[in-house]
Amino acid sequence: MNAGISKIESEILKTKNARAVYDCIESLPIIDYHCHLDPKEIYENKPYNDLWELWLKGDHYKWRLLGAQGVQAVSFAEKEAQTIAFIEKLRLNLGSPLRAWARLELAFFFDGLGVSDPLTELSPLQIWTKANAFIKEKKLSPRALINASNVKYIATTDDPSSDLRYHKLLQDENLGFTVAPSFRVDGLIKSKAADYGAKMDFFKENGCRFFDVGAQGFPNEESLVYSANLITAAAERGFVIQLHLGAIRNANDALFAKYGADLGCDTVDTALDISALNKLLNLITVKNNPKTIIYLLNPAYYYPVITLADAFKNVSVGVPWWFNDHKRGIEQYFEVISELSDITKVPGMLTDSRSFLSYTRHHYFRMLLANYLGQFEDLDSAIIVAKKLSYENMFSLVR
Ligand SMILES: [Zn+2]
Repeated sequence: MNAGISKIESEILKTKNARAVYDCIESLPIIDYHCHLDPKEIYENKPYNDLWELWLKGDHYKWRLLGAQGVQAVSFAEKEAQTIAFIEKLRLNLGSPLRAWARLELAFFFDGLGVSDPLTELSPLQIWTKANAFIKEKKLSPRALINASNVKYIATTDDPSSDLRYHKLLQDENLGFTVAPSFRVDGLIKSKAADYGAKMDFFKENGCRFFDVGAQGFPNEESLVYSANLITAAAERGFVIQLHLGAIRNANDALFAKYGADLGCDTVDTALDISALNKLLNLITVKNNPKTIIYLLNPAYYYPVITLADAFKNVSVGVPWWFNDHKRGIEQYFEVISELSDITKVPGMLTDSRSFLSYTRHHYFRMLLANYLGQFEDLDSAIIVAKKLSYENMFSLVR
């Protein structure tokens, strides 16, 4: 293990038991059951040219620190300037999860660029120059990063109209890991189109295991029956249901008009219709009890939604999503799930990412999990729970 990883582990793992728990889960394979990686990039497997392509291109989790939604680089000079600006921001934002992730990414994928903490020991320009040389020398590519991370399963997020071209091409490759589509219905919820059955069948034929919705204002009374029918059809095909609740999409009209969706313009909604969610859960569980995972963007809803989820079989509240994916958010989640529900039943970490470097966030989650469980002075139980949330519960969703 390199000095950078050791340093980060020693900072997070506070007790002997935490260390002992982490030793049992650190190397478990990664099942990334919800992300926004592009299957085309995995298929083409083009080596990266520079750190900008790896770090900033397409990763809207990182753009919030740049304060420049719609990050677009058109020339090498802009890539360099933007990456250096990002590193300078990282150095100053000591409590940012982006800083914690960046340290792990540089330590894990770049062997720390030869030092134990590049963010404090190297200048931004040195990081840019050394990382670019490392990327060229090691020929870092999507599949190289996936394999280095011991990833065994990747569920991408796909529009029902997709021809799944790249998923089909990937099925013919000898990858050592599975790449499967997920049936993302935000567009359907809006259009209320009725022709989704054949599309679901097509997705299922091509390996789909997950249904997903993240539409603004979902669920609501107005689309309740349509939503319930859609989810029931997915459940009949054996899909796991994922509900991403509480995002306001494209808050900035001018940026949306200029750059389109997914460019950092999404924010946290204050309103979630708990009554509609309750009705929806009744409707979708009336025939069977599909495995359903609810993700909350607004942690203010943990109490009502965790207790509501537990009123139904196979429904749980998933790991902290997006703006909650940070040390305090993850620790808060462990506490509130333990206090209100059954921590052993929740599926564990996913990246929700558009970046192939984000697999280190599974390690970050595992360290925080080991640290949380290690405090209870029951090592045997802690290890059982840690294995469930690091691998076993996710594996049971995709096997
Ligand atoms: Zn997502």
